[in-house]
Amino acid sequence: MKAVVITGVESIEVRELDSPAMRANYALVRVAAATLCGTDLHQYAGKIKTPLPRIPGHDFSGVIEEIAPGHERFKNGDRVVVKPSFPCGSCAHCARGDYGACEDKKLIGLHGEGCMAEYVLAPVANLVPLPEDVSFEAAANLEMFTVAMNTMKRVQPRLGEWVVILGQGPIGLGQTRMASLSGGRVIAVDVRREALEMARDFGAEITLNSNECDVPEEVKRITGAGADIVVECVGAKATVDLIFQVARKEGRVANVGFQVGAATYDLIPIMLRSLTIHGVGGNGGRGQYETVLALTASGKIEPERLITHRLPLTEASKAFAIAHKKSEPVLKIVLTQGR
Ligand SMILES: [Zn+2]
Ligand SMILES: [Zn+2]
Repeated sequence: MKAVVITGVESIEVRELDSPAMRANYALVRVAAATLCGTDLHQYAGKIKTPLPRIPGHDFSGVIEEIAPGHERFKNGDRVVVKPSFPCGSCAHCARGDYGACEDKKLIGLHGEGCMAEYVLAPVANLVPLPEDVSFEAAANLEMFTVAMNTMKRVQPRLGEWVVILGQGPIGLGQTRMASLSGGRVIAVDVRREALEMARDFGAEITLNSNECDVPEEVKRITGAGADIVVECVGAKATVDLIFQVARKEGRVANVGFQVGAATYDLIPIMLRSLTIHGVGGNGGRGQYETVLALTASGKIEPERLITHRLPLTEASKAFAIAHKKSEPVLKIVLTQGR
């Protein structure tokens, strides 16, 4: 099979490899669509260390080529989306049914070979049937909405509350959609015009370009007291500092953005403003992929709209370079099996 392989820092090759060998309780999935996400880019840049060479990727959909015996719920030819992380099933969190918090969670593409290939092996427990009316491309793009579900579960927007979302990359746009579906009035902030246009399509009531206006002043003018909820999706010092300038007293804050070493928190403003701070560490809560898939099937979310680039697997090197350097406007890149 053809497979994309990370061979070193910022080094990608497309190789001809053997298809993975079947294992008990696994399915061999023929990949239809795989998307690049931040984790893949960290791995590509050497910021997340994995054994090399390694096939990256964990956000994908496809068709079951072969299923291990004893799993009659699925059959060969079924369309599926695959939940990317697998909890250990035996730690204290898993025992509570809190799989998203598993201490020993493994991710396809990091702890084993990933989905940027013609075939990938996935645990049967991670397969979710894909409804006919959801495209492979949409289904390969669910992760940011599950992260947003994790966030909304914590900050719980109530009808009419103001939600400022800092950063409108794919993760921020997922937050914008889910916060507005939850009844929040979203103020989306970014510096990229095309991202802000998308934010409006995803339900933002107001968009602010932080290069063109004074964001704290605007938020104060719009909301009066400040934002009820702030969701930080960048992880840079400037945006983390902004939290304290836009959140109202007794507001709720979610930290989703991730840049190692970029930002630290000052304790005093948290106390003086009586803020509630929530950390949101990824996706994987029980039932989230299923819920996001159902919302996609009903048309309430449109994950395929985040796709800005479609490239064949053979052009993975170009795809990673575009996503890494952001040399052109890019939200999500999907790798297809086309030539
Ligand atoms: Zn991902
Ligand atoms: Zn566990």
